[in-house]
Order: sequence, then C-alpha cells, then structure tokens
Amino acid sequence: MRLILLGPPGAGKGTQAQKLVERHGIVQLSTGDMLRAAVKAETPIGLKAKSIMDSGELVPDEVVVQIVSERLDEPDCGNGFILDGFPRTVPQAEALDALLERKKLQLDVVIELVVDEDALLDRVKKRAAESGDNVRSDDNADALKKRLDVYRAQTAPLAQFYREKGLLKQVNGMAGIDEVSAEIDRIFADVG
Ligand code: ADP
Repeated sequence: MRLILLGPPGAGKGTQAQKLVERHGIVQLSTGDMLRAAVKAETPIGLKAKSIMDSGELVPDEVVVQIVSERLDEPDCGNGFILDGFPRTVPQAEALDALLERKKLQLDVVIELVVDEDALLDRVKKRAAESGDNVRSDDNADALKKRLDVYRAQTAPLAQFYREKGLLKQVNGMAGIDEVSAEIDRIFADVG
C-alpha cells in the first residue's frame, strides 16, 4: 500500500501513520521527522532548514523532493509507505508524480484528515505541554499560526489535485483516535 496522509498540523497524521506502521508493516516517511533529524545532526540541509522550520515556513521544494526520492530507494519501502507531511505544495505533488513514474510505482490512495481549525491550536499546545524538554521548536503559537496559514494557502489545494485523480478519501479527523484508524482501515480494505 502506498498512500499519502494529508491534513493540517495537529490533525493526527503522525499518530495514524504510527498505527498503520504497526498494523500493516509499511514504513512512515515523515519529511518533518527527516528534516528534524538533519537539524539535529547539523548536516548542510539541517543547518539551512532550521530557521525556516522554526518560523513555520516551508523548506524549498527541491530539498524535500530530493530527500524523499532518496528515501524511496531504500529496501524497506518495498512493502509500501505512508507519506506524512509530503507533498505539501502542488509543485511537490507534481515532482512526486514524476518521481513515482520513474520508479514505476503507483499511489493507492490519499487520505485527508479533515479537522476543525479551532481544535488545532489546543491539540498542538497539548502536544507541546506533554513533550517536556523535547518540545518541538515550532510548536508555539506564532509558528503554528504561520504553519496553518501556509497549510491553507499551499497544502490545502492538494485535496483538489488528488480528487481530480480519483485518489482522495476524506476522513473525519475530529473523531477519536481509534475511530479514525477504523475508518482508515475501511478505506484500506476498499482500495487494497
Ligand atoms: P506539522 O505537520 O505538524 O506542521 P511537520 O513535522 O510535518 O509538522 O513539519 C515541520 C516543518 O518541517 C514544516 O513547518 C516545514 O518547515 C518543514 N517541512 C516538513 N515537510 C515539508 C515539506 N514537504 N515541504 C517543505 N517543508 C517541509
């Protein structure tokens, strides 16, 4: 199964991706996690990305496309993968199309977690409060506001992009964690 999880910050993409990893043995490819690892390791990409991420802006498309392309070539992606946080712009989605075609792979489904924006600030605040010393440097009110603005302007149009390709399925992300994952499982059963 090869899928994209789409949804704003705090929608629950990471939580659901983790559950899919456990249940279906496919890997989670989170560009946010990959970039945070690069920041921590102080690689050239990480050094460039840090201030961009902290402000809630997007790192350049070509940087993430390159990271994802290399990651998809690793053997553990053979069983399928969940893209979490990528693509985030229409140019990224077009680059992904080209990349998958080159690698002779097809996407099975794009699942959008639809959430009420008012809930997101609370969810992200809660995540920050629960993370103790490991709090993400972009989980603060200013960066979150920016991330939501960026989501609305640049990422939300991807729902239409994938709807036109007949790949989009929407799930109510306001439901409880287990209900959301049951719904995702139903979608898997349908497309799988
Ligand atoms: P969230 O979904 O909570 O916003 P992520 O962990 O997916 O957080 O991403 C954190 C930050 O990493 C983003 O705000 C952005 O700066 C950068 N980033 C992650 N994925 C991408 C991407 N596909 N394109 C550009 N920037 C990205």
